[in-house]
Amino acid sequence: MRIAMISEHASPLSALGGVDAGGQNAHVAELSAALAEQGHEVRVYTRRDDPDLPVVVAANGFEVVHVPAGPARTLAKDDLLPFMGDFAEWTAADWRGTWLPDVVHAHFWMSGLAAVTAARRHDVPVLLTYHALGSVKRRHQGANDTSPQHRVAYERQLGRVADRVVVQCQDEIRELIAMGVPRSSMALVPSGVNTTLFRPGGPAEPRDPARPRILTVGRLVERKGYEDVVRALPAVPGAELVVVGGPPEGRLDDHPYARRLRALAEECGVAGRVRLAGAVPTGDMPRWYRSADVLAAAPWYEPFGLTPLEAMACGVPVVGTAVGGLTDTVVDGVTGDLVPPRDPRNLGTALRRLLGDDLRRVSYAAAAADRAAHSYSWRRVAARLAAVYATVAGRTLSTTTDSPREAVV
Ligand code: UDP
Repeated sequence: MRIAMISEHASPLSALGGVDAGGQNAHVAELSAALAEQGHEVRVYTRRDDPDLPVVVAANGFEVVHVPAGPARTLAKDDLLPFMGDFAEWTAADWRGTWLPDVVHAHFWMSGLAAVTAARRHDVPVLLTYHALGSVKRRHQGANDTSPQHRVAYERQLGRVADRVVVQCQDEIRELIAMGVPRSSMALVPSGVNTTLFRPGGPAEPRDPARPRILTVGRLVERKGYEDVVRALPAVPGAELVVVGGPPEGRLDDHPYARRLRALAEECGVAGRVRLAGAVPTGDMPRWYRSADVLAAAPWYEPFGLTPLEAMACGVPVVGTAVGGLTDTVVDGVTGDLVPPRDPRNLGTALRRLLGDDLRRVSYAAAAADRAAHSYSWRRVAARLAAVYATVAGRTLSTTTDSPREAVV
């Protein structure tokens, strides 16, 4: 098949760990590479955010197309909506040439808008993965949510016009049903993990063997719950906490949230046991996971959550919050322990218990590595998705609703 991925803000070529570059970038990069490996032709359309970028860049068996839409510089993803019309026009024109996709898979709601508009011109089916839902974000972030005003309405409409909504976990199905998206249009295919890169054994970052290491990883944003992990640390005597993500280590002093975490660590009397490591290149991530005794993943909410899966694939148990994708990936009491979100007390207890029980940790570690390798390899995930693509290829978009943009604005 010829598969067009649309990922308006999340380029598969970006460095991860910054404010708007995380799981979606990794997902699009790995999925595209795995589909290409299985013989499909894949092109990823992403916004040109640097004037020096060539229009087409060859990546890992697939092509990345930089779409001129809006200024050629980095913009916050919440500011990209006005440029989605241009994005769609340019992409539709590109498909007028020699390369017409069999299916279009959009990642994130704004890509969905561009995908539906462009695909309609050519009668090509559209699949949508939301990656994150505006309704969930609004519930948790309230007034701090900077999403465009009509995001939730757009997402609802997109769920009704897309040929398939590819959901990543059970929790998302519940949310979408509540939004009125028909269950019959949903296909559950989780994200995956690169099991060649993320595997047990292999080199690890140096550490103090006398001191248990708790690792936590991701973009340095409030909803990832790092403050809860710092607050839990007094209940885990002797352990060190390493936080990976955010800007490069040398620029952490200028990062307001990094400063806030350091101040909190002082307040909790654990500053000497908390280390902020800054952004780590993806290729080095396995070394950091392998250096840890446990991954603490404490988001308030999490659409899927790659870091718990990456840790599991490296044979590291997870103590996580029972939210979103973690309730599917982490098997409570088998590959890790799940605790309620925003609850440092329970988090601290679970971490102390696990770090104090070698047998339990070793058995969680083995079960975690098995589960990640068998159920979440990209090869397996890509094959499942290709089967979903095949069911919609050749079918056209629903014609009962106008373009979601026109319908909502
Ligand atoms: N990541 C990375 N370097 C960092 C921090 C994070 O490569 O310094 C990667 C991490 O390995 C994972 C992704 O960024 O692949 C984060 O994905 P996740 O789904 O956990 O969170 P999101 O950022 O999508 O909210």
